[in-house]
Amino acid sequence: MKYSEFFIPTVKDAPSDAEIISHKLMIKAGMIKQSSAGIYSWLPLGLKALRKIEQIVREEQDNAGANEMLMPTIQSADLWIKSGRYDDYGKEMLRIKDRSGREMLFGPTNEELITDIFQSYVTSYKELPKNLYHIQWKFRDEVRPRFGVMRGREFLMKDNYSFDISEEEAKNSYNKMFKAYIKTFLRMGLTPISLRAETGPIGGNLSHEFQILANTGESTLYYDKELERLNPEKLDPDNLQSYYAAVDDQHDENNCSVKKEDLKISKGIEVGHIFYFGTKYSEKLNAYVQDQNGKKIPVHMGSYGIGVSRLVGALIEANHDEKGIKWPKSVAPFTLSIVNLMPDDQNCNTKSLEYYSYFMSNNIDTLYDERICSIGKKLSDNDLIGTPIQIIIGKRDLSAGVVEFKDRMLNKSKKIKIEEVKKVILEKINS
Ligand code: ATP
Ligand code: MG
Repeated sequence: MKYSEFFIPTVKDAPSDAEIISHKLMIKAGMIKQSSAGIYSWLPLGLKALRKIEQIVREEQDNAGANEMLMPTIQSADLWIKSGRYDDYGKEMLRIKDRSGREMLFGPTNEELITDIFQSYVTSYKELPKNLYHIQWKFRDEVRPRFGVMRGREFLMKDNYSFDISEEEAKNSYNKMFKAYIKTFLRMGLTPISLRAETGPIGGNLSHEFQILANTGESTLYYDKELERLNPEKLDPDNLQSYYAAVDDQHDENNCSVKKEDLKISKGIEVGHIFYFGTKYSEKLNAYVQDQNGKKIPVHMGSYGIGVSRLVGALIEANHDEKGIKWPKSVAPFTLSIVNLMPDDQNCNTKSLEYYSYFMSNNIDTLYDERICSIGKKLSDNDLIGTPIQIIIGKRDLSAGVVEFKDRMLNKSKKIKIEEVKKVILEKINS
């Protein structure tokens, strides 16, 4: 993509109501624009980041055997009346009447709808287990929408729902998701900490929250340092669930099972939450199947959520500096920026275009900055939008046979020979 053809409306100053760094940077980098409280338009750069994150979430769900589908944003109130949550959900639910006066709502979550879909088709234990997910916009009329996309009213969530014949099988499904979550966050370059959590209005008795470490996070986490040592190839959910971890209001120094020297205290942001709630919804919404003995029993269910749009903010909270965002490679809107400092110089142009077409043909998401503007603005814009790998092409460097290579994550630059650029960059991207 040529920078001049891409819509990146960067701005100098963030609005005064942007309190936290990710909110400020998303506005300064031209990623989002608020449309009303807690509701945002995703501008092209923001959408690119959102899509990359969504894709990792999707791949790890697929790897874990979940099936993607898509449920509507607008639901009828009927099922919610049956489950008893139409009243319980209170003011967070956005209620709508259609033209014939029927009560509708903008879905804050999908337990009711999915249970109804499941019960319409599945009648026997032979068809279990099943695990269905979608990635869809949710609406919750939060009392205090704040921190940009971290606590919006409209937000993108991946939610899935597992259906099993028994509690034991359901715990299997739960652990599969537990593992998929850790893998998902690790692939984004984050450190996830899993904590035992309250189940709240969803109900049930088993639940874990996933927080990612970020110095600017809202919660304070107390946990066994072993929880930071995660090997994606050897994840054992039962083992991980046995370590001590608590948020500040649950942490009790006198009742903490971990030795003082092994206890870590860090700031975190909640990005995912999983629940096993047994037969709470299946009983109310009639999701029964025949078991091995021909007896009709309610299915055991779990639900699992990842805040996809919140992750955009959380990733920035975990990766930034005074110049802007430092995207991890796996989720960066652009993997590579080619910054042509002298677009009116023949040599700079020819070399930049050669690299641009080479990396594009290697399927690398490349931003070619060929804008006619000051050198300072070019460098600061590319740092602000946080492209992890940058090659900076200037007239003097070229005549010395080199270009500048910048690693944005480490904030380190070095000169590399022009004939080595392609190899060095490809190696860096694939490392
Ligand atoms: P919270 O305690 O932050 O309100 P929750 O317990 O209501 O979260 P869940 O219903 O478990 O959240 O939703 C699953 C995930 O969706 C959360 O872990 C979070 O990442 C995300 N999420 C929830 N509410 C919002 C929101 N208002 N804006 C953005 N993301 C959200
Ligand atoms: Mg909430």
